[in-house]
Amino acid sequence: MTIFFDFDSTLVSKESLDEVIALALADSPDRIEQTEAVAAITDKGMEGAIPFTESVRQRLAVAPVTHQHFEAIGKELCEHITPRMAELCAELIERGHEVYIISGGFKTSILPVAKLLGVHADNVWANTYTTDQSGVLTGVDTDNPCFTDFGKSPVIEAIVRKNAPPRPYVMVGDGANDLAAFESDAVDHFCGFAGNKARTVILERAPRVAYTTSELRDFLFSEVAV
Ligand SMILES: [Mg+2]
Repeated sequence: MTIFFDFDSTLVSKESLDEVIALALADSPDRIEQTEAVAAITDKGMEGAIPFTESVRQRLAVAPVTHQHFEAIGKELCEHITPRMAELCAELIERGHEVYIISGGFKTSILPVAKLLGVHADNVWANTYTTDQSGVLTGVDTDNPCFTDFGKSPVIEAIVRKNAPPRPYVMVGDGANDLAAFESDAVDHFCGFAGNKARTVILERAPRVAYTTSELRDFLFSEVAV
């Protein structure tokens, strides 16, 4: 079995890019207006009024984000791992299953958490950026399969082409972009994770929803890896 975990609001209880942007704006004299502008862009993205890649570009344009901000949030997120997820990842790996983290967030702020979860850095598929010499972001790597408006399917297809991990494939996540992997047949199973955020799209369309890590564990071991 191969489990593809979403990161934000699934393995951790927060949304990493929002945290990075809040940190970047913390000392700005215009932070109230900037925070409102970022929230408006986030909302437009969630409503589907603008594509995901556009919402990332627009948010990064408002906030003067640096590599150091991503590193700091990576450390902070280690304190916000969803309860029992570390134990579940350890058990999955110990039983010989493959665990991947696939995210529209940025790799820098995911790697410290992945290390704690025992997930190898090569199994973390997330966005990457370029910076200038002082660490200020100069762009997002648009060649990365994670920088897409088509949810997690292109990422899973890229992983399957490169590594051909063992079936069945299971996607676990809280968002419409995670569910897209199942609805496009990139994975065999989907479990919505509503332990941090219970989104309507998941509650209405996911074939299975777990509200706790324990429910997710039961699903994986009783219904998928049988
Ligand atoms: Mg998520």
